[in-house]
Amino acid sequence: MKIAMLGAGAMGCLFGGLLSESGQDVTLLDVNDAHLDAIRAQGLRLETDGGDRRVHGLTVLRPEHYRDVPDLLILFTKSLHTDAALRSVAALLGAAPADAPLRVLTLQNGLGNLEAASRHVDPARLLVGMTTWPADLAGLGHVRSHGAGKIRLLPASGEADAQARRIAGALDAAGLQCEVDANVWAAIWEKVAFNAALNGLCAVTGCAVGQLAHASDGPAMARAVVAEVIAVARAVGIDADEAACQASVAYAIAHHRAHQPSMLQDVLASRPTEIEAINGEVVLRARQAGVAVPNTAMLLGLVRLIQARQLDSR
Ligand code: NAD
Repeated sequence: MKIAMLGAGAMGCLFGGLLSESGQDVTLLDVNDAHLDAIRAQGLRLETDGGDRRVHGLTVLRPEHYRDVPDLLILFTKSLHTDAALRSVAALLGAAPADAPLRVLTLQNGLGNLEAASRHVDPARLLVGMTTWPADLAGLGHVRSHGAGKIRLLPASGEADAQARRIAGALDAAGLQCEVDANVWAAIWEKVAFNAALNGLCAVTGCAVGQLAHASDGPAMARAVVAEVIAVARAVGIDADEAACQASVAYAIAHHRAHQPSMLQDVLASRPTEIEAINGEVVLRARQAGVAVPNTAMLLGLVRLIQARQLDSR
């Protein structure tokens, strides 16, 4: 299968590297020239539980130089870069013949990714999903990922089809534990609840995940955010599992002690965060559904304030 990763940072490289090792024809598309040059020069350094090795044979390009029509394009930019990234491949998306197998899959965190992608891609070609695989960019051309994860996906139409099953099969064969899942929206909202609580709290306090346990307020606030997000999910008709989500948050606080969520890493590096796609989208939907989400909204406001202060002091 011809696969393009649009956004080849931590996740794009992890997935692209594993798919390439499993025999797929993979192109990495990104705008970070130094990172692309490092991969071109030495291959992609992939550090996983399967070993520390270099993956060669990847095609590495800026998106505007990509001319192919892939069978699958996986969107792995941060949510705030979705528009720009899809605009840069608009010509190829538009040129795909109606019967081309092209599908576009978003596995980005947060809500609103499907809506953002559907401004550029025929909804009939879109798939949505979530992944629990973790990855960090350890340096230019170097991705680190330890532990296991899974992927759940579904066509945007809500109806599983042969192409979705083929894509899930290719991801699964790369060791990425992928299934087509009719309940994918519950999985997406449960991850949003997890991220709205832990990413937001860590970004605001500077705590690594385990440090949230230093005062009982940390876990209590995390529980409150999870309960709010799940209440919104239920109000919009998604059967999300609060007990499972509370258990994952408690497990992360107890066991992922030194982990700095990406939102904290972004704040520390004075980069814009994905707060709008996570807490921001929850607050919007809560307002429409008439659900009170004071804790989620407070974290949204505080992270916006941090970002505004950082912009102002540039
Ligand atoms: P990242 O910042 O490491 O990678 C994003 C990449 O997108 C960067 O290399 C950046 O240069 C590139 N990019 C920015 N603008 C672009 C454009 N216009 N065209 C092409 N590329 C562009 O982020 P990540 O950690 O890989 O996360 C990607 C998405 O996956 C996010 O939505 C994140 O929340 C989600 N996610 C991350 C993890 C994780 O553990 N890292 C796990 C699950 C989901």
